[in-house]
This record gives sequence, C-alpha cells and structure tokens, in this order.
Amino acid sequence: MTDRTIQLPRQSAEPALVDPFGRHVTYLRVSVTDRCDLRCVYCMSEDMEFLPKRELLTLEELDRVCSVFVGRGVRKLRITGGEPLVRRDVMQLFRSLSRHLETGALHELTLTTNGTLLERYAADLAACGVRRVNVSIDSLDPKRFREITRRGDLAQVMRGIDAAQRAGLKVKLNAVALKGVNEDEIVPMIEWAHRRSMDLTMIEVMPLGDIEPGRLDQFLPLSLVRERLASHFTLTDLPERTGGPARYMRVEETGGKIGFITPLTHNFCEGCNRVRLTCTGQLYLCLGQEDSADLRSPMRMSEGNERLEAAITEAISRKPRGHDFVIERAAPAVVRHMSVTGG
Ligand code: SAM
Ligand code: SF4
Repeated sequence: MTDRTIQLPRQSAEPALVDPFGRHVTYLRVSVTDRCDLRCVYCMSEDMEFLPKRELLTLEELDRVCSVFVGRGVRKLRITGGEPLVRRDVMQLFRSLSRHLETGALHELTLTTNGTLLERYAADLAACGVRRVNVSIDSLDPKRFREITRRGDLAQVMRGIDAAQRAGLKVKLNAVALKGVNEDEIVPMIEWAHRRSMDLTMIEVMPLGDIEPGRLDQFLPLSLVRERLASHFTLTDLPERTGGPARYMRVEETGGKIGFITPLTHNFCEGCNRVRLTCTGQLYLCLGQEDSADLRSPMRMSEGNERLEAAITEAISRKPRGHDFVIERAAPAVVRHMSVTGG
C-alpha cells in the first residue's frame, strides 16, 4: 500500500512503522477505558467486571505513548473504549494531543462514542481540533434502544448528536446489524441519517468476548442486508478505502453514503494500516488475533522513550498477515471484549 503521508518529516529519529508485509502503520486506535455507561447486548454482559483503575494507563502515559506513535508516522488517532467520554478528565488528553494537530504531524484526532455524553463535550472536542466523530446507535426506537443497550436513553444520544452538529463536528453513525432485532430499521435509519447529512456504517457482529446469548443468534450477514437494500435503493459502489474493513456505497436516492464493515465475510487485511492500544497499554497488532505487546512496562521502566520505542518496533515486526474470525465456532475467536481493545 502506498501512503503519501509517510513521506512527511517525522519527529522521531526512529524509523517509520512498516510491518513485514510492507504495510505502513499510520492509524492508531486507543482505548482509554474499558468502562461504559451502557451494556450493549453484543458487547458486554449485564454484570460486566471492569479492570481495577490502577491497571489503566494514566492520561499522561496515554499522551506519551500516542506521541511516540505520532513521532513514528501515525497520522490518525481514534480515541475509543469502552466509552471514552466516561474516563475522568479525558478532555485533558484531547487537549494535549491537539498539539500534534497544530504542528501538522497528526492529521486527524477523532473518537468513537455512544453519544450519551456528547451534549456535554461536543464544543470542547471541537475546540481541541476534533472535526469528526463516530456515534454508535443501533435503533431509533427508544424502547428497542434501551433493550439493546440495556439502559440507554435514546433522547440523550439524540441531544448529543444535535450538540455535535451544532459544534460543527461531522457525525458518522455506526450501527451493528442484529438479526431479528434491528433488521427492519435499516432503511429508515439510512433515510434519517442522510436527511441529517450523516453517513451510516453497518457493522457485522464480531465474535469478541464471551457474552450471553451466543452471537450466532445475533449474526446478520451484511451481504444479505445489501441485497435487501438494493431492492429499496440504487447503490453505487465507491472506490474509497480507509485501510480498514469498511466498504462504501452511495445511495443515489438520498445522496448519502453507507458503509459496510464485514470482518467475517470479506478479507480486508491486505491494506491494513492500523494497530490498537488497550487502556492497560497492550498493543494489539490485529483485531482478530490474540498476539499483543506490553508497552506499559517498558514505558514505566524509564523516563526516556528508548525502551518504549524498541517495544513498538519489535511489536510491528510481528504484525500478522490477517485475522482469524470464524463465527461458527462455539467459543469466541478472541476472548477479550471489544470494550477492552476498542472498536
Ligand atoms: N462505546 C463506544 C461506542 O459504542 O461507540 C466506543 C467503543 S465500542 C466497543 C466501538 C464500536 O464497536 C461500536 O460501534 C460498537 O457497536 C461496536 N461493537 C462492540 N462490540 C461489538 C461486536 N462484538 N461486534 C461488532 N461490533 C461491536
Ligand atoms: Fe459501551 Fe460501546 Fe460496548 Fe455499547 S458498544 S457497551 S456503548 S462500549
């Protein structure tokens, strides 16, 4: 894959992050907490146990490790979780990371959120240089929304979306396609989103973490969704590639875009440009593989970044060619929850 951004001068004497398959790592997703104010049925169990706070990287450590990645050529940072906006003082992190936007080293600072706290933080995020935000919303029906999230208030999320748009943030919606739960809402959701100038990306349920009930019940292949949508709308494939598992289409009737994230039915690994950092400092080289590297210990071992840099270099040399998801397996392919690695 070619990435013209990689040609820019970098802040680090260390080399750019290129894996054994020649892929440039230019995108880091950072989970800042495993906690959440919701309990989406496909993501967490009702009685989820969260990590003790002492295990988490501090905000200063998160800034430090992100800054090292930016120095090594990462151009896009996505803050996620759990729910990133429930982390105390998380705005401090956005504020300090925004310095990399100002120098031009970082091209984009963004986040994925469930939207419950966006009403409170949208303006602050915009002031930190955030331009786009992904909001996850799986239903437009308040009762159903509460059932899926086990506790969410749809009106609160709607106020969050309003606030984000008022603050000038471009909002993109994520919705997980859930068999027998929200399949009948996909067309109205697309129409609603596009009326409000928001693109919508559908996500297939991924086998991450052991939750009840089994994900086989929830799995709705997006190939089927696409087929159904084609009888409602005129869909035009778009050539856009983000280096991730999303493929995009334009809906000619609305002028808006829909994305499909199909990690289970489509192989997207060849262009993968991303790695993920957990809130405890584990670096995952692939969403669908267990292999990871501990960055917390080398970071804590010294004030300088040499050990941290070396651990990152070593980890990237182990980035696997591709993932290993198989939904038919009885056990989850990967035992950690999405809320740990970050979506
Ligand atoms: N709490 C934030 C949110 O909901 O947007 C950020 C973290 S959440 C883990 C990120 C994304 O992952 C959300 O869009 C969520 O719907 C999705 N997600 C969580 N568990 C998933 C799973 N098992 N399969 C597919 N998507 C999942
Ligand atoms: Fe929380 Fe996001 Fe997981 Fe829902 S998907 S439980 S909002 S982390």
